[in-house]
Amino acid sequence: MYTESHGDESALTAEKPLVFSKVTDPEFKKIFDYNDDYLHFLDASKTERLCCAEAVRQAEKAGFRPLSEFRSLAPGDKVYVNERNKAVIFYRIGTEAVTDGMNIVGAHIDSPRLDLKPSPLYESDDLALFKTHYYGGIKKYQWVALPLALYGTVVLKDGTKISLSIGDRESEPVFCVSDLLIHLAGKQMAKKAAEVIEGEELNLLVGSIPVKDEDVKEAVKKNILKKLQKEYGFTEADFASAEFEAVPAGKARSVGFDESLVGAYAQDDRVCAYAALRGILDLDETPARTACVILADKEEIGSVGSTGMNSRMFENDTAEICALLGETDTNLAVRRTLRNSACLSADVTAGYDPTFASAFDPLNSAFIGKGAAICKYGGARGKSGSNDAHPEFLAKLRGIFDDAGVFWQTCDMGKVDQGGGGTIAYMLAAYGMDVVDCGTAVLSMHSPFEISSKADTYMTWKAYNTFLIKY
Ligand code: MN
Ligand code: MN
Repeated sequence: MYTESHGDESALTAEKPLVFSKVTDPEFKKIFDYNDDYLHFLDASKTERLCCAEAVRQAEKAGFRPLSEFRSLAPGDKVYVNERNKAVIFYRIGTEAVTDGMNIVGAHIDSPRLDLKPSPLYESDDLALFKTHYYGGIKKYQWVALPLALYGTVVLKDGTKISLSIGDRESEPVFCVSDLLIHLAGKQMAKKAAEVIEGEELNLLVGSIPVKDEDVKEAVKKNILKKLQKEYGFTEADFASAEFEAVPAGKARSVGFDESLVGAYAQDDRVCAYAALRGILDLDETPARTACVILADKEEIGSVGSTGMNSRMFENDTAEICALLGETDTNLAVRRTLRNSACLSADVTAGYDPTFASAFDPLNSAFIGKGAAICKYGGARGKSGSNDAHPEFLAKLRGIFDDAGVFWQTCDMGKVDQGGGGTIAYMLAAYGMDVVDCGTAVLSMHSPFEISSKADTYMTWKAYNTFLIKY
């Protein structure tokens, strides 16, 4: 399929070829076709809830059904578990015993954003605003003076669920956080970047028209509440059982004259989530080992909560799978299954950025356009908090990827002691399985507009698809 083999390429990432320089014409086209679908997925998935729903929609189209519909399971079955509409796990049952282990790709579908506080609405000097509490690690100054869309789920006391989505359609208004004009920003500009915009300054502008009644206090706020009641059917008290996320408004875009890059909000980690989803949906035969894809929530705040990877969610669902496959001692079966599994922790990594080259070790960086990035370890301050994969596992992966024509590169995220980052790798490794981080390199990670290479997003899909069927 390839004009040259790359199994014998240099181990040095800096010397590895650009994917676009080596792929055949048909695969060059496949790269762009895949990315057209990826851009649509991003647009349909602006929050973890929407991402979960879109993943389920695509999976059902491909024949997957909820676990609750099965009385027993057999090889070839396609199953999913929707975890509170915020995380989802897919299983494609293999021909071998599940206790011999699964091939797992685990990504996350939550992304940094501005969440509304539980009591968000206030009026100040005749403007109505929402208080926010940011979610995940952000450079707060990047989230001012740009159009934001608002997504909400309000649950009324009687259980009625109201979904709101305002700002991503052309006809809709957007919201924004204001910044201080440069003319008056002398003091602000002298501050450290972390303090230029403070957390309590991330206030969302939501209105300025008062109700027409001279005697009413906070007439602008009152007008907003009237509108919320009339158009969406909830009151100020209902914010107590609601969640609202403000995210960058607008669609995912191609970037560059050659349209070779993707620019979009939340590619961390929906780029790997989409590659993993398509990886399992695109399996055209029943795998030997059961294939499993995890799309988890809450990674950006430490994988906490009942839909994060630190919960028993995955273990519980896998126990149900074991039971439906006829295992009688499900406690032992689930332990064996997980212990014998192999996993790609599917998350983004830092792409080498020539503009900020001093943060990187060029010998050990993931380069934009050189394929899926394998990070043996992450962590910070001497690999602390990292999984650090075993060479035996990495060797097997190299063989499988090279045989299948997957372009891949190794990386260490930034220079030693420059910073660091974590993924869900160590949580899955806790079950005793082999795990390594393998994902897509991005520029401007955690910003409102993250950049990836179309060649890399495609090779990430190819890596996951190959791993799920061949490992
Ligand atoms: Mn991530
Ligand atoms: Mn992240």
